[in-house]
Amino acid sequence: MQDMIRRHQFTLKKSLGQNFLVDENILNKIASAADLDEESYVLEIGPGAGALTQVLADQAKKVVAVEIDRRLETVLNDTLYGFDNVSVYFGDALKLDLHDILSKEIPADATVTVVANLPYYVTTPILMRLLTDGLPINKMVVMIQKEVASRLEAIPGEKSYGSLSIAVQYLAEPRIIMTVPKTVFVPQPNVDSAVIRLDIRTEKKVRVIDEPFFFRLVRASFAQRRKTLINNLINNLYNKNHKELLLDILNRVGIDPGRRGETLTIEEFARLSDALGELTD
Ligand code: SAM
Repeated sequence: MQDMIRRHQFTLKKSLGQNFLVDENILNKIASAADLDEESYVLEIGPGAGALTQVLADQAKKVVAVEIDRRLETVLNDTLYGFDNVSVYFGDALKLDLHDILSKEIPADATVTVVANLPYYVTTPILMRLLTDGLPINKMVVMIQKEVASRLEAIPGEKSYGSLSIAVQYLAEPRIIMTVPKTVFVPQPNVDSAVIRLDIRTEKKVRVIDEPFFFRLVRASFAQRRKTLINNLINNLYNKNHKELLLDILNRVGIDPGRRGETLTIEEFARLSDALGELTD
């Protein structure tokens, strides 16, 4: 693969998160974590020079890949030569109409598995788009920064637990598959990585009456991590006049107002969100 990049005189762009994977063993482990078979449809974000794409195309029925950098077209034509089950679209994964692309590429009742070595500079927006855009995704296996992977998987009380953990766990079940050293990339990034698998839930983890409010509540509760829940609520969602009422409601749902947001489970946030609904004016 490195020869291929050299042969095409391709210069990697740091600004596009172009850290290409050059370790065959890791490529195989990523694909194997996705549990693909000859019936599987795969959506790959950022095929780069096609190293992972080749492994995926060998195992799946079809791979649809979305790459922002058009300069890679000639490289991909070369590396994917002979693979007739790969379609590459050039454009920004955040902007392209993925519904439209998938409707052209996969049967209407099929689901896709996302597999990607994601560009680090847009990991979270890409993940959140894929999770919230109503695409027919059943699971995702993605390589991301280790630190972001721990945030996705974090449970209450852990340092990396925050609104991102809740947003992701509300919709998916995350599980870190392995951590990956910097040395398997060209060029080497500054941070270590991890492969994480997210199984999309058929039903959201909790039911809430008002979803946008639930997420506003979560963000407000984590706004100042060292402050108590009641202070975060007063400072970021309500005001001092609401204090007594808030204490009353917290008491009613069995949540100690002196706790910090980072100790609340998703279920507790859901309970609180529904109970606070009556206070929104
Ligand atoms: N899959 C290859 C591999 O594993 O070696 C390349 C992975 S590299 C970390 C990320 C790839 O995503 C690059 O090819 C980059 O050009 C592409 N990329 C960056 N931003 C993108 C975006 N917004 N939409 C689609 N692709 C993007």
